Amino acid sequence: MSAIQGSDQVCIVVGAGHGGSALAVQLRNEGWTGRIVLIGAESALPYHRPPLSKAVLAGEKTLDAIALRPLSHYAASGVELRLGERVVAIDRQARTVQLAGGESLHYDALALCTGTVARTLPRANELQGVFTLRTAEDAERIRSAAASGKRAVIVGGGYIGLEVAAVLRQQGLEVTVLEAASRLLARVAHPVVSDYFAALHARHGVTILTGIVGVELLGEATVSAVREASGRTHPADLVVVGIGVLPELALAREAGLEVDNGIVVDAYACTSDPHIHAAGDCTWHPSARYGRRLRLESVQNALDQARVAAANICGKQVLYDALPWFWSDQYSIKLQSAGLLLERETVVLRGDPLHADETGFCVFHLRGDVMVAADCINRAKEFIACKRLITERLRVNPQALADVNSGVDAFELRGEVL
Ligand SMILES: Cc1cc2nc3c(=O)[nH]c(=O)nc-3n(C[C@H](O)[C@H](O)[C@H](O)COP(=O)(O)OP(=O)(O)OC[C@H]3O[C@@H](n4cnc5c(N)ncnc54)[C@H](O)[C@@H]3O)c2cc1C
Repeated sequence: MSAIQGSDQVCIVVGAGHGGSALAVQLRNEGWTGRIVLIGAESALPYHRPPLSKAVLAGEKTLDAIALRPLSHYAASGVELRLGERVVAIDRQARTVQLAGGESLHYDALALCTGTVARTLPRANELQGVFTLRTAEDAERIRSAAASGKRAVIVGGGYIGLEVAAVLRQQGLEVTVLEAASRLLARVAHPVVSDYFAALHARHGVTILTGIVGVELLGEATVSAVREASGRTHPADLVVVGIGVLPELALAREAGLEVDNGIVVDAYACTSDPHIHAAGDCTWHPSARYGRRLRLESVQNALDQARVAAANICGKQVLYDALPWFWSDQYSIKLQSAGLLLERETVVLRGDPLHADETGFCVFHLRGDVMVAADCINRAKEFIACKRLITERLRVNPQALADVNSGVDAFELRGEVL
């Protein structure tokens, strides 16, 4: 059910990241005629988060350069910004949210786009020189520590850890990555992709160690090293912890909304309260495509789900079932992935990972003759083609996929659509 709307109605959006900013602006495009208030705990104008571990950390882009939209865009859409303000409670009976300063604001419709918080290690908060990377302020802190640092240890070999490793290495630091699993990107990528990135980092002089468990931060006031359970220590004057995130659920949980591995929403992005929708990294949403619930951490998911939530708040009935996709930039390599890895897929390789820095390669994941996921390394054309093939569940020709001399037009087996 969506809010009954009119020009005296108020929609409050909590969280001014990718999802919240898009949702607020899209509400107006969908015909919301009342007030729209976007409340965000960070004081900066909503910004693109991916550059934080890439161009911003490298000093190539400033915070101003990564704003999602200029200030004038919010004004033109009639979106009131309340930045640098945190919502601390929701009263679902009274339909109000309470701000940290004590102010209470009435809503007719509420949207939660609260994102995630970075997981960290014990003692991280009491030691200088230990960082997580979620906000522009975090990126600035890491940048300034790297300027005088010599040895960095990155705990966690996921995308963020590896992107940070690439930037710090290019700035001349000695970099060691400690990964708990037996390979990099174990949760999200095929072993061929993991091996490729391990070799890429090794070629750039990063030390990659896998199967490293029980890590502990050492130091008095400032971090001095990271110790493994085995006792081996890795001296460091800068530690970046990239061991994943947790959905920001406190508000939703305390308001009595259903929560699990995220705020539970239905396929219309509506929570267990019909007056409250949610979108982005914080949601635990059903996927008809995958036949189970998902919690995704990607710009695609935040934007697409926010647009669906905005439409439904305005009384439409739009289902969310977009194809998940993601990218990562490390050195001069762009990885683009579409779809989620399932079990028991056939893998088709296009190109040679050993020479991928020059020519790129792709790993296609097929179930029968239908592609379900693809990882494309420096292969943008293939990525675009695969997004369509996967989304439309088209039958593919494995020979053409594997043959680097076949154009992307030959990927589809023309004829019957499954
Ligand atoms: C360093 C980094 C690199 C990334 N790189 C990529 C990439 O290359 N490709 C990709 O697809 N994705 C990438 N991501 C993930 C992507 O940025 C997220 O999936 C996306 O930001 C999710 O958007 P969101 O709106 O759900 O949450 P967020 O963008 O996290 O925004 C949530 C906002 O809500 C605010 N908030 C939370 N609680 C409250 C409250 N109670 N009151 C007020 N405000 C509140 C938070 O302060 C935050 O600003 C990256 C993320 C990071 C951190």
